[in-house]
Amino acid sequence: MEYFDVIKKYDYETISIIQNRKARLFALDVIHDTTRGPAVGGTRFMKYNNEEEAMIDALKLSRGMTYKSAAAGLDCGGGKTVIMEIDGMDRTLAFKTLGRYVESLQGRRYTGRDLGVSTQDVNLMRAETRWVADETSAGVGDLSEATAFGVYQGMKACLAETYGDDSLKGRHITVQGVGEVGYWVAKYAIENEADVTITDINSKAIERTVKAFPVKVVKPEEIYEVDCDVFSPCAIGGIINSETIPKLRCRIIAGSANNALEREEDGTVLFDGGIVYAPDYVINSGALIQWWYRQKTYEVKNRIDARDAIKNLYPVIRNILKESKVEKLAPAIMADRYAEGQLKKEKTYRDIHWGHKK
Ligand code: NAD
Repeated sequence: MEYFDVIKKYDYETISIIQNRKARLFALDVIHDTTRGPAVGGTRFMKYNNEEEAMIDALKLSRGMTYKSAAAGLDCGGGKTVIMEIDGMDRTLAFKTLGRYVESLQGRRYTGRDLGVSTQDVNLMRAETRWVADETSAGVGDLSEATAFGVYQGMKACLAETYGDDSLKGRHITVQGVGEVGYWVAKYAIENEADVTITDINSKAIERTVKAFPVKVVKPEEIYEVDCDVFSPCAIGGIINSETIPKLRCRIIAGSANNALEREEDGTVLFDGGIVYAPDYVINSGALIQWWYRQKTYEVKNRIDARDAIKNLYPVIRNILKESKVEKLAPAIMADRYAEGQLKKEKTYRDIHWGHKK
């Protein structure tokens, strides 16, 4: 599908090109949807082969942010900025330019850090606009831990659905990747008396985890074949595919990895094979939830405790799994439907912003 067809089909609101020749900056900012609130999503700096590739990435990522925010029940929508990596870009001027652009949107867009963007870059934007926040913002806490807490809630929902008992006690949990999130997932599992097996390609990450908790270790390529209750992918995307699915010996897949399913159809193969899959953008939304509720500018209006909001992922995931059984459709498909349902609101931020409704 041509990307203009995609733009129409998925009802994108605004697509902007931010260009500053002096800075050698060429960036695209996409606001997918502000039905629920300002478009939240970080700024990514990456080598793209051409503008079209950058556009497709920004379209996909911004829409992903809308669905993630909606499924988490947050009053925000989805956006994303992608900067094309060009030799000789003046980083200072480039990020200041982007900051000024975000400021011009007067709160309709909230940006932050994504791949290839440093805290220093974020601070350059922050000097130009209020509408920037990331994990270094005051008071947001450890966001990787928040993600793991959400994964733990999701795991419990999956266990309840599979075994009629949500306790981790005595369950065997395997964790692929014990980095920022996986380490905490292992911690939650051990604290709740599960047996834990881990793997990682980085020996330092393994050492840190083994030192802290009584876990078993297997080689990276062996993790799929370990007989377990829950497989928790917390490393990279695309690892659930036609090659790995036949190897799996788990009942549940519940982890933080973004886009764990290589293709949408892989979700259906899992479903047909009786493996319960917790949709990635729902189960890994803990960081976004905590950040949203704890950011300085927002907390005055909304004093909901971020941890309670993350705990709410349990009933959300449980319902998605229940609906999936009823409709005989993979949980990932039901998650999209749930998120789309969350976008249907009587009075929306989008309407107010565009002046359609008072
Ligand atoms: P991280 O880089 O800190 O940890 C990933 C770990 O996986 C590393 O230790 C790495 O060595 C290991 N790894 C990479 N490839 C591997 C492989 N093939 N086999 C085994 N181990 C492998 O990243 P993170 O912040 O912990 O994030 C993990 C995943 O969760 C990513 O997909 C990320 O996009 C997603 N996620 C993270 C957050 C967050 O709050 N950090 C939020 C949402 C989603």
